[in-house]
Amino acid sequence: MQIAIDGPASSGKSTISKKIANMRGLLYLDTGAMYRVVTLAALQHKIDPSDEESVKQLLSQIKIHFETSDNGQLVFLNGENVTDTIRGNQVTNNVSAIAAQKLVREEMVKRQRDIAANHSIIMDGRDIGTVVLPDADLKVFLIATAEERANRRFKENQLRGIETDYRQLLEEIKHRDYLDSTRKESPLKKADDAIELDSTPLTIDQVVDTIVKWIDE
Ligand code: C5P
Repeated sequence: MQIAIDGPASSGKSTISKKIANMRGLLYLDTGAMYRVVTLAALQHKIDPSDEESVKQLLSQIKIHFETSDNGQLVFLNGENVTDTIRGNQVTNNVSAIAAQKLVREEMVKRQRDIAANHSIIMDGRDIGTVVLPDADLKVFLIATAEERANRRFKENQLRGIETDYRQLLEEIKHRDYLDSTRKESPLKKADDAIELDSTPLTIDQVVDTIVKWIDE
């Protein structure tokens, strides 16, 4: 079983995918985290995210793995737990430039397909239904307004005790949407056979229930 969940930044893909993974005993793969790890590695090595040659050389030295813990999924870069660091502003502000590189995408897609070859999986990202798993059993394209996505991020941060400014979050989301959708070959595309689901008026559980129904159909 292969399920592809695609959509823009902060559309709820990871929260929803994790819940469905638990309910249906699937492996959950957060492909955005993989692009974030590469970005962090580049920053750590003081490599300019747009310097393709240096990023290419770095790729072969990057081992990414995931572990499941009581606090959710942990992400590792060469054995170091980078779960929180990859969500920081520095990585978020540079990830689009790294993800735009052809070689980075080819390498990540290869790694993602290798993982999918051995597991029943739910994967979230931008290009899962179109590129990574074109034969997925179910493809969902999850959308929500930028205002609703900023609102969710704001509440999530509040729960984590992180103080943020709603306006700033909204600007960041709109900016990342802009970068992700205007670059030469944007990965964010709805596959022809994907079902579009607008989660703006829905709760997390309503989105999960809707998708689980589609899985079971
Ligand atoms: O999903 P998340 O917001 O963590 O993804 C971080 C970034 O990685 C996105 O803004 C996008 O530039 C990139 N990405 C991608 N293809 C994917 C997943 C993420 O280009 N499949």
